[in-house]
Amino acid sequence: LSLAERASLVGPFDYIVLKTIYEDRDKSEYIHYLTLKKKLGQKNVKDLKISLLKLNKLKLVFKDSTSLAFKLTFSGLDILAIKMLYVNHILNKLGSIIGEGKESIVYLGYDFNDNPIVVKFHRIGRNSYKSIRRREPYKKSWITISVENAEREYKALKCVHDNGGKVPRPLGIAYNAVAMEYIDGIELYRVSNNAFDFTKLYNEILGTMRIAYTECKIAHGDLSPYNILIDKENNLFIIDWPQASQSEESLQHDIRNIINFFRRFGISDDPQKIFDYVRGIS
Ligand code: ADP
Ligand code: MN
Repeated sequence: LSLAERASLVGPFDYIVLKTIYEDRDKSEYIHYLTLKKKLGQKNVKDLKISLLKLNKLKLVFKDSTSLAFKLTFSGLDILAIKMLYVNHILNKLGSIIGEGKESIVYLGYDFNDNPIVVKFHRIGRNSYKSIRRREPYKKSWITISVENAEREYKALKCVHDNGGKVPRPLGIAYNAVAMEYIDGIELYRVSNNAFDFTKLYNEILGTMRIAYTECKIAHGDLSPYNILIDKENNLFIIDWPQASQSEESLQHDIRNIINFFRRFGISDDPQKIFDYVRGIS
């Protein structure tokens, strides 16, 4: 079943069960049935059993193999996010997948006026397990780390957008999902138009990097022609901000990427000069 189909099968009580499991996520990996029963009240026991069976079958919760304990799956987290975006009148209907990376799944969706929007679900998987574990002094669940990534991306989009930078307009955040304006365009690396004004584009990218660093205190951190969208009117939008942080190394890394890419269009610049420019020093 698709995410949208599963979302439509989750009723109000199932939602409460999912939310209760979510709220317990950093105490231990699994929450025991008896703990859930206590939290939800004796009068809901029958509903709870039915709900857990259903959520397990929909793969929104995962049952421990040796005990009557459950944890939320990433799909379960996605469902919580979808319901919240719906309640907040941001997302009316989820559509098809338009992008899938190693740490996210990007969906097309529709708002309450039937306009297309984008919903990006963050899913931090095992790929980054070791590096994150080493950095964190205490244990956080993958769910929590994914939610934090979504929050970081939303904050970055909001600040850069509010200050006039070229990013998709953020529409809302819920759990691990960031909703934003849908850009009808293509990634920069796919642009193959001889008449395209690459110099103008280059300057606009630097302008947005400068706004991000000076107004929002962040460098993108993964800036590349894969994370820049160009729409039909040749407007640019920098996407994919979850790793944004105030790091001069990240900023230098981004500058190198951009300078390297634009060299093929005859644009050459001194990295140090650009480094000063985007930090607002010159
Ligand atoms: P990641 O690279 O981590 O998977 P991205 O934010 O780069 O996540 O999104 C993945 C892909 O989804 C993009 O390359 C782009 O094709 C598409 N996409 C993301 N955001 C938008 C958007 N606002 N409008 C249109 N397409 C988008
Ligand atoms: Mn990307």
